[in-house]
Amino acid sequence: MNTTATKENKTIDQVWAKRPLIISGPCSAETEEQVIETAKQLAQTGKVDVLRAGIWKPRTRPGNFEGIGTKGLPWLQQAKKQTGLLTAVEVASAKQVQDALHFDVDIVWIGARTTVNPFSVQEVADALRGVDIPVLIKNPINPDLELWTGAVERVAKAGIKNIGLIHRGFSSYGNTEFRNAPMWHLAIEMKRRNPGLMMINDPSHICGRRDTLIHVAQKAIDLDYDGLIIESHIDPDNAWSDAKQQVTPTQLNELLDMIIWRKEDINSEEYHNALDQLRNKINHLDDELMQILGQRMLVAEQIGKYKKENNITVLQTNRYNEILERAYIKGELLGLSKEFITKYFDAVHIESINHQTKVLNS
Ligand code: PEP
Ligand code: MN
Repeated sequence: MNTTATKENKTIDQVWAKRPLIISGPCSAETEEQVIETAKQLAQTGKVDVLRAGIWKPRTRPGNFEGIGTKGLPWLQQAKKQTGLLTAVEVASAKQVQDALHFDVDIVWIGARTTVNPFSVQEVADALRGVDIPVLIKNPINPDLELWTGAVERVAKAGIKNIGLIHRGFSSYGNTEFRNAPMWHLAIEMKRRNPGLMMINDPSHICGRRDTLIHVAQKAIDLDYDGLIIESHIDPDNAWSDAKQQVTPTQLNELLDMIIWRKEDINSEEYHNALDQLRNKINHLDDELMQILGQRMLVAEQIGKYKKENNITVLQTNRYNEILERAYIKGELLGLSKEFITKYFDAVHIESINHQTKVLNS
């Protein structure tokens, strides 16, 4: 393990264990002055743990700035020396891993466009074999948990102990509210499958614009994420990549001040008793709901019997529409969203059809 103490005496172990972990810095390293000045201002906030900077930029279209390349790595080294911030860069090939290691980068991350490609992930993993450096793995650009999981497995198999996940959203065709749709449920499911891996949120690449960063960052904190990676730049409007979504270190400081930081747990007995009681109530209600659903299925089976005797189809669209219309009206009065009612009744309806089909085929 790399235990080199930095200016502030923080080791990579300490930083890796810190919650919330805050990573910030420019989308791309552009000039030595830009990197060092951004780092200095970030360090001054006292809230940032790791300086990020893209050295090699995987751009969707050729002709855009593709990163300053290896010559930017000494700038990061300098920034670390002057500020005590640890450093993180994106790597996508064996050569990039070697260069990053050569210049003492503390953390590497695998970008969204690399996570989708098992050949590249394997190449990076092989280059990391025998090296004890933390690796952050961004979600693939497409909503596929298996690809994300596969990347984690390849890196873990190479012997990397400290692996973290970055949720940066998923791309889709056409303009949406987000540059990359967060699809929170996928990140939550990934976290459920990998409870030991830290989950960091990347509001910059989810939002694609600076004015909505706070909402996404707050939501991530509400969902108990372990940290944030947010792009910052001393002159965001003139950034060579991702200009619209970057903020100044001062704006980052304000944003972090605005976030309501939530704890997963506290040690108060009163709080725990109250919570236990409410959770018991929920358990009882869930039990009742299941009982009622079981009864509902028995009624559906009786209907199935009649349908069988009279040779009638199981699916009757009109009837289902009628059920939904009733539910929307009642649901609204109870404060249940139309979206929830639709999902819930779809699930109940499919289960009913399965029960009826069993009866018809018996
Ligand atoms: C980045 O972090 O600048 C980047 C290229 O992100 P992503 O891989 O999420 O697109
Ligand atoms: Mn970027």
